[in-house]
Formats: sequence, structure tokens, C-alpha cells
Amino acid sequence: MKHKIIQIDDRDNVAIAIEAIASGTRVTPEITAQEDIPQAHKIALCDIAQGGEIVRYGVCIGYALASLPAGSWVDEHRLRVAESPALEDLAWGTNLVPVEALPTPTISSFEGYENPHGGFAGTRNLLGIVTTVQCSAGVAEQAVKRIRAELLPKYPQVEDVIVISPPYGCGVAIDAPEAKVPIRTIRNLIHHPNFGGEILVVSLGCEKLTPERVMEEAEITPENRIVLQDCKGYGAMLDAICSMAEPKLRRLNQRHRTVLPLSKLLVGMQCGGSDAFSGLTGNPAAGYAADMLIRAGGSVMFSENTEVRDGVHLLAARMPDQETRDRLIEELRWCDHYLEAGGVDRCANPTPGNKKGGLSNIVEKAVGSIAKSGSSPIIEVVGTGECPQKRGMIYAATPANDMICGTSQLASGMGIQVFITGRGTPYNMTTVPVIKVGTRNDLKDMWFDLIDVNAGAIATGEKTVAEVGEELFRLIIDIASGRVRTFADHHGIYNDTYIFNPAPIT
Ligand code: CA
Repeated sequence: MKHKIIQIDDRDNVAIAIEAIASGTRVTPEITAQEDIPQAHKIALCDIAQGGEIVRYGVCIGYALASLPAGSWVDEHRLRVAESPALEDLAWGTNLVPVEALPTPTISSFEGYENPHGGFAGTRNLLGIVTTVQCSAGVAEQAVKRIRAELLPKYPQVEDVIVISPPYGCGVAIDAPEAKVPIRTIRNLIHHPNFGGEILVVSLGCEKLTPERVMEEAEITPENRIVLQDCKGYGAMLDAICSMAEPKLRRLNQRHRTVLPLSKLLVGMQCGGSDAFSGLTGNPAAGYAADMLIRAGGSVMFSENTEVRDGVHLLAARMPDQETRDRLIEELRWCDHYLEAGGVDRCANPTPGNKKGGLSNIVEKAVGSIAKSGSSPIIEVVGTGECPQKRGMIYAATPANDMICGTSQLASGMGIQVFITGRGTPYNMTTVPVIKVGTRNDLKDMWFDLIDVNAGAIATGEKTVAEVGEELFRLIIDIASGRVRTFADHHGIYNDTYIFNPAPIT
């Protein structure tokens, strides 16, 4: 009999429908579907009493609201969400997998752009123009059009010119404690490895986010920073930005890719538009690739606070010291309070699409989401938009929103992102490549020209997690090295950057 369901852990009392299952279908010799089960949704493997635990991934994701006979559809309305683990007294260091036990990487280097100041290498050679306030963004965009048309063709080693703008006017209460988040995010975006140390900041002149807050003193020069209110007319603004751009393009044109160890690469992991297959196929394959990268000396970042909150005990167990665990608790406690202040909790996270895709609640989503971090020790925790100081698996504490998580990981120095999606999203970034990993064969069939890696073959048994994981590992290196392009880059699909601002807006 062809497999109709997948059970992940021996302890589970539910399994996932690989395809939609019609009522009356025999799914195993013992179990017959009691009703129609949509694809990716859960079916009860045994009789579950009212109040009984619903177990997936070996973790209790909720409690049955009424008794559920074997073969029932276990949908979101039939279970009550389990409580989050407490943040007090979390055990750390109880699940430290030695690096030597991780899967052996088949490649140890990539071709990137080394930077004079050290740190992570670039994966692209771009002129980055950053505005300190949204008010300057329109002018910066017009300058980019002119630079692309008139200057860029003279500097073939430079791939593109892009603008990054905060979404705010200067309304952020800039001295509020939480304003540190947008300030450091913009500061670190200005210094992103793909910009090769060249700085071009477009300020307005009256904003609260002054250059002193986002640039080093020595960097604040007329070559690096323009104040639009000091320019006589619009034409002078464009002329000035283009004049500033040219010597930078000339220097960037000297940059070349060289063979570098993977320790120079920082890979970001994110999921979005998740479904119940995410934790079965796409995320475990991404986790396998992450393990290979770590074993090869590379660094990987994963994020999404509300999607790890319910698995916090699993992360703490992978932390080698109390200090790292305490940083994790600090960040997640902050997130609990942030949500509480808005009158919600982490249950506000799952989307209608997640639920349609079979994810009943945030606990189920979280345990599947964490799988993309693989199994290696988590050696550092950084806040939103902060740069890591260590090398290895890093937890970057950011919101789960795709745009904000992407922008925050970018500020942390990410050179390439892996994005795992079940429902499908065409999300992409201008500054770094984003590899899309689809969790289902159906998605790859629908979006054959948007999904770069199909992990759906894991669900049907055609491929193993290790096979897709290694395929992804190789593709990460090929794309980071500029040898292969993602579908989204080929089509020129891009989203804006969105800087997280938890500070009050005045
Ligand atoms: Ca996300």
C-alpha cells in the first residue's frame, strides 16, 4: 500500500496526510479515515480521549477538546493549545552534539568578496545607498536610476546600486530605550559586507536619526554623506549623489571574488507561508544543510521569536553555557512583554494560510520551525539587527515577519538567506540572494519557476532529508559564489527592506 500518512516520532498519536484523504479510505491496515482529511492535515492514529494530549514531533502540541476516535481529522478547532514552557530555570547544555558528529561537508570553500575590515565576506558587489529617514528615499531612488543608466555601465565589476530606507519619517522617539533596535539596524546595514566598505548616506537635515547615531565620526564626510536640505534644488541633489557615487564605483570595481573558507560565510535561515510539511521536509533539509555548514566552519543564523518560544527548552539544551541561555531568555521575555503590551500572545502568530496548511497552532508551528537550525550547538544569541561576534550556529532574536526578519538578518551581516515555504511566497531581497525551498511536490508543480529546491520529494519517499539537505548545501555555495542565480533574481522580483521599530512613534 502506498504511504498515505507520515508519522515523525514514535511517540506521536497523530500523523500528516501526504495527499488529501477521502473519508472511508484505509490509511494503514488498522486505521480508516473517519472523514475527509485535507492534505498536510493531521489524522488521529489511535482513540484520543477528551482532554488527552495531541502529540506531534514527540511534543504535546495541545489537548483534545472532545474525544477523537482513530482516523479523525485533528484540526485546529478540535484542540486547545498547550502552555509555553516557563522561561525560569531552563536547563542548558543537555543536548550538545559534538561538531564532529555533524554530517561531513562535501565542499569547504566558496568564492566571495573579502572586505578590508575583515568580518564576514560579501556575496555580491553592490553600491549601497542608505537613507537615514524615509523623507529622502524618493530622491535616492531617482539618483539610483541615473547612476544605473549613466555610471554603472563603466564599472562592470559592480553588480548593482540599491537603496535601503527606513520606513519612518523621523517620528521614532529616538531616545526611547527601544530605539536602539532601528538605530543599530541602520548602522549595521550601512556597513553590510556586500557594500565593500563604501558608504553613501542620504540624510534630509532635520531628522532625529542624525549621522552621528549611525556612522563613525571619521566616516561623516562630504564624500560619504549628503544633506538634502543643504542642496539648492532637486537637480543639485541628484548631481551631488552621482558625484559621490562615482569614486565609490571606481573602488568597488576593483573588488573580485576569491576562494574563501566557509568560515567567511554567514547564512540566514527563515521560513514563511509555512504548512504542516515545513517541519517534515523543508525545515529538516535546511537543518541538514546548516549542520554541514557548521561542520565546515561556516556560520548560520536562525530567528523568529514567536516561532521558537514554544520550543525554548529545545534551544537552551543546545547552548554550551549559562550566559548564552540567559541571553535567549532575556530576548524571549522581552518578546513576551512586547506581545502582552499589544494585548496578545504568541498565539497571534499563525496565519490563515498556516492553518489551511494543517498547522493547528503555534506550538506545532514552532517545533517544526526549529528544525531548520539543525542539531549543532547554539553558541551565541544576538538581538534584532546586531552583528554576531562568534562563529557557528547563532540565534538572532527577531520578529517572525518575513520582511522584518530578512532585513534584521541582513543587518547582522547575512550573505545569503534560505527561505523555506509551504504555501508559497515570491519573497526576495535586493542585497543578498534568497534561496526558496518548497515543502511539497504540489507547490513545486504550481511554482516550477519560483521554487529553487523541492523538499517535497522527502514526503513521498523519493528522496531523503540528507539528499535534499546536501543538494541545498551545494546550491547555497553555488549561489553565494555567484555561479548560479535563484529564480527570483532571474525574474527580478524584490521586496523592500523593513526595519523593526519597537520604540514609540511620536
Ligand atoms: Ca518568517
